[in-house]
Amino acid sequence: MAPEEARARHAELVRTIEHHAHRYYVLDSPEIEDSEYDALFRDLANLEELHPELQTPDSPTQRVGAAPVEAFAKAPHRTPMLSLANAFGVEEVEEFVRRVERAVGAVDAYVCELKIDGLAVSLSYKDGQLLRGATRGNGLEGEDVTAQLRTVRTIPTRLLAGVGGVPAEIEVRGEVFLPKGAFARLNEDLDERGKPRYANPRNAAAGSVRQLDPRITARRGLRAFMYAIDPPGEAGTQAGVLDALDRLGLPTNPHRRVVSNVEGIAGYVEEWRDRRHDLDYDTDGVVIKVAPLALQEELGAVARSPRWAIAYKFPPEEVETVVLDIIVSVGRTGAATPVAVLEPALVAGTTVRRATLHNEDEVARKDIRIGDTVLLHKAGDVIPEVERPLLEKRPEGAAPWRMPDRCPSCDTELVREEGEVVRRCVNPLCPAQRRERLRHFASRASLNIEGLGEAIIDQLVDGGHVADAADIFRLDKATLLTLDGFADKSADNLLRAIDERRHVSLGRLINALGIRHVGEHTAFTLAAHFGTLDALTAAGEEELLAVEGVGPVVARSVAGWFASEPGRELLRRLAEVGVEAEQTEASTGPWTGQTWVLTGGLDGLTRPEAEARIRALGGTPGSSVSRKTHAVVAGAAPGSKLEKAQRLGVRVLDEAQFLAELEAAGG
Ligand code: NAD
Repeated sequence: MAPEEARARHAELVRTIEHHAHRYYVLDSPEIEDSEYDALFRDLANLEELHPELQTPDSPTQRVGAAPVEAFAKAPHRTPMLSLANAFGVEEVEEFVRRVERAVGAVDAYVCELKIDGLAVSLSYKDGQLLRGATRGNGLEGEDVTAQLRTVRTIPTRLLAGVGGVPAEIEVRGEVFLPKGAFARLNEDLDERGKPRYANPRNAAAGSVRQLDPRITARRGLRAFMYAIDPPGEAGTQAGVLDALDRLGLPTNPHRRVVSNVEGIAGYVEEWRDRRHDLDYDTDGVVIKVAPLALQEELGAVARSPRWAIAYKFPPEEVETVVLDIIVSVGRTGAATPVAVLEPALVAGTTVRRATLHNEDEVARKDIRIGDTVLLHKAGDVIPEVERPLLEKRPEGAAPWRMPDRCPSCDTELVREEGEVVRRCVNPLCPAQRRERLRHFASRASLNIEGLGEAIIDQLVDGGHVADAADIFRLDKATLLTLDGFADKSADNLLRAIDERRHVSLGRLINALGIRHVGEHTAFTLAAHFGTLDALTAAGEEELLAVEGVGPVVARSVAGWFASEPGRELLRRLAEVGVEAEQTEASTGPWTGQTWVLTGGLDGLTRPEAEARIRALGGTPGSSVSRKTHAVVAGAAPGSKLEKAQRLGVRVLDEAQFLAELEAAGG
């Protein structure tokens, strides 16, 4: 390549990479796949190798991550937090081993660890107390996210003393991540509220840590594994470091292995290529580290990564498959979603037959057509995603896909409102919506009717036995016995499970109604604020807007639902069959007369849910501490209320004790 051409290509690559790094690190919202980014990065590194004069200190190849965002206080690192060099095949791992052994002679121990796909953090402890938590940022300076990291259940705020006591000052480093299940739930919740979803668990973890409000972080369900400690103390090897972390009560990943050569490394990589899909968190590779710390020191680091470690990246798990059909599925709020019906394909451990295509614009943008051979992968190892069609394999005559104008279930015209990406079926009697609404009504976060699964609901709807949620409570044994798979006992069990759910918490009931833009959290917030279904029904948009965390979209949707004829009709019919929300306000119970104050984030339940449970026992959730306060529940990162409670001698409980007392009181 001529120098001029190389310079132009270099400038273009730098511009592109910087754009994507910003989307990824600062906005937590990447536009391209990691493997595409890695390929660009690699092109840049190769180009700089051929034309070293182009490599300036501010080239992306010389830097880690991106600058911290403005909103958090800056957190300078005592020693740089580096990235890792990548290896894209076992041959490149062999090259790494040769390079290492050329520099320091034969090495007899390497530690293999899983590469956890989260975000790198540093935790500083002084006299055993968590003093500061920071993100990696650009490696030299990150963001101070102490309050946020305190809410991560597995990060201890106080270290275990262990043998030899706790060192006066230590810094540990590791990865904070979001388990797969929590990632999937978070995206569902974001969908529900019409917010953009996260592309993968890593971006979701980063986005969760970088919430200015730590209470939001607390609800996300983050976890952490630590892998480095400074100073290392007695530990002479990386394996010793991990053991030392264990002894201090810090979380480490259990699946590490000490091996002695390339064969050992290859065996570990091979084993985890498939096994990783069984883990409940995402791993994108294996990190191989020279074990003896003395050799690590001798090897040192280059610009952005240590010379003593390398990250083997699992090849992106994508498979080719064929789009047999594109169907439209109608959800409980009428949203019509195009779904690809695929030739069954094994990807990331499971057989995939369907993948959502999200909306018609997305289908058009990717230009996916029926008959296309497509690349399929799983976002965050969980959600099947059609990446793109392979144009060279497109069958002749394949036409661009068009969203149908009418609902596939009830043939009503689909309406696309202004500013919306989805079309909706607006017929409240649509069978597909009905089915989805009933599924939602019976689901775990709603009424949680045990045994009333999708297959049974389908049969009940198809057989004309239930049209709305109230009909569930009118079911009788004779009807159930006509369905597939029901016998005397199972019919009795289901009827009992249904009967038990005539009295549920207000939060669950609101969630169960399936109001657009109202997810579980909003449902409990509304319950805590209004206390009774009547109060909520009577509330207008203005009043709803006054509720903390309720914006104009939610307020309009809720007020609209309660004012609508179908909404009112459903409430009337539910009341007729005896479904009622447990009185949450002014109810009497074992805690009547007691004021409970919550401070800090709880792991197992949301604030509104905790308040609802206090109310359900007759107690009153209070907002400030006085001598009259019955007890203070201190979650993660408690505020000044905790200090005040201690000063006034008010009883303080942690989350586990609180849950135990709730249970003991029958709540
Ligand atoms: P990296 O994620 O490839 O590897 C370095 C990090 O691995 C370390 O900082 C550490 O936090 C982590 N890690 C996990 N487990 C570890 C263990 N056991 N031991 C040591 N470290 C461990 O590098 P990076 O610089 O953090 O990020 C680059 C990644 O970000 C690439 O995968 C790239 O594809 C992606 N990226 C994507 C885009 C995009 O637009 N899609 C943009 C920028 C970056």
